[in-house]
Amino acid sequence: MKQLKQDIIQYANEIGIQKIGFASADPFLELKARLEVAVKEDVLTGFEHPNIDERVYPDLIFDAPRSIIAIALAYPSKMKEEPVSRKEARRGVFSRASWGTDYHTVLREKLAKLETFITELVPEARFKSMVDTGELSDVAVAERAGLGWRGKNTLLISPEFGSFIYLGEMVTNLPLAPDKPMGDLCGDCNKCVEACPTGSLLGEGKMNPKICLSYLSQTKGFLDEKYRDVLHNRLYGCDTCQVVCPYNRGHDFHFHEAMEPDPELVKPELKPLLSISNKEFKAKFGPMAGSWRGKKPIQRNAIIVLARYKDKTAVPELIRCMTEDTRPVIRGTAAWALGKIGGEEAKEALQKAHDEDKEVLAEIMRAKNLIGIR
Ligand code: SF4
Ligand code: SF4
Repeated sequence: MKQLKQDIIQYANEIGIQKIGFASADPFLELKARLEVAVKEDVLTGFEHPNIDERVYPDLIFDAPRSIIAIALAYPSKMKEEPVSRKEARRGVFSRASWGTDYHTVLREKLAKLETFITELVPEARFKSMVDTGELSDVAVAERAGLGWRGKNTLLISPEFGSFIYLGEMVTNLPLAPDKPMGDLCGDCNKCVEACPTGSLLGEGKMNPKICLSYLSQTKGFLDEKYRDVLHNRLYGCDTCQVVCPYNRGHDFHFHEAMEPDPELVKPELKPLLSISNKEFKAKFGPMAGSWRGKKPIQRNAIIVLARYKDKTAVPELIRCMTEDTRPVIRGTAAWALGKIGGEEAKEALQKAHDEDKEVLAEIMRAKNLIGIR
C-alpha cells in the first residue's frame, strides 16, 4: 500500500493535480457538532446536502470505506486584460470560482482519471468521487488529509496555494495510510471577519451563510433591501474574505487552461444582460459555474448594480423590465432601481406604475418614496 500511495501521488502530479492527501474514513464528528448547531440556529442555506448523518459517516454512503483521497486544484485570481467598467457601459463581476469552465467538470475529470489509474493497479478497488455537491464536506476531508487548514473564512487554506483552490475527494475501500492534518495558521489575523460586508463571518471559523453574499447572490427571490448596497458590483459570488487573506497575497496560478476566464463573460456589461434571451444566456454563460441557478438571479443582481451606479442610460431598459417582464422579482427590482437612479423619466414611469403582485407593488411604493412622489 505504501508503494501504491506513492504511485497515486506521482500520477496525480503528472495529470496536473496541485495537491493530494489521504485521510481516514472515520466519522467527521467535529463537523457533526458544527452542523447540529447550524440546524439549531437555523443558519443552513438549503444548498447543502440535507442528510447530516450522510455528511458525517462515510460508511452510510459507501460500503466498507477504508480511506479518502483528497485533491486540490489551484485557480487564477487575476485575469489578463480586465475590461474597465465605464460610465454608461457599467460592468458587474462573477467571483473567481466561476471563472473558466465549471470547476465541477474539471475536477470530476481529474478524479475519473485517478480512478482509472488506480483500478489498473488494483482491479478490486472501489470508489465514490465527489466535488462540492456530494455528501461529504470537501473542506473537512481536505483538512483531515493535510491539504491545509480551515481558516476563519471557513475555507480551506493551503500554505502554498492559499484558498483559491477547488477541492474534490474520493472514498475508497483501499486502506491507504492517512496524512497528518496541519495546525491552524490563522493565528491572530482576523482580516476576513473584519472585511466581510454583511457580518456573515462571526469569528473563530463560525459563519451565518444565510447572509453571505455568495449565497444571497444566488437566491431567486427579492434581495432584502439591506443587502442591495453592499452587493457592490457582484453578479455572482463574493471573494472579499479571500482577497484580504494574507495567505493569498501574490498568488495567481494559471495551471489549467480550462480555468482561464473570458474577461467579457466574467466581467460583463450590465445593460445587455437585462434583455438576454434564455438561449443566448445558456450559450454564453452556460459552461460557467455561476450560471447554475439560471439567468434570473444574475439579471436581478445586474439591476441592483445598475442602481448602485445610478446609470441613467439604463432607465429605458429598466422601465421595460418594470412594465413588461413576466417575473415579479425583475419587475419589482427594476422599480426599486428606478427610484434609486431618479430623474424625470424614471419619475414619470413610477407615477404611472401599478402591479397586481403585492411584492412588486411594495417595491414600487419604496421606489416612489426614494424618488419623492406618492
Ligand atoms: Fe462575507 Fe463575502 Fe466571505 Fe460571504 S463570501 S463570508 S459575504 S466576505
Ligand atoms: Fe485566517 Fe486571516 Fe486568512 Fe481570515 S484572512 S482566513 S483570519 S489568515
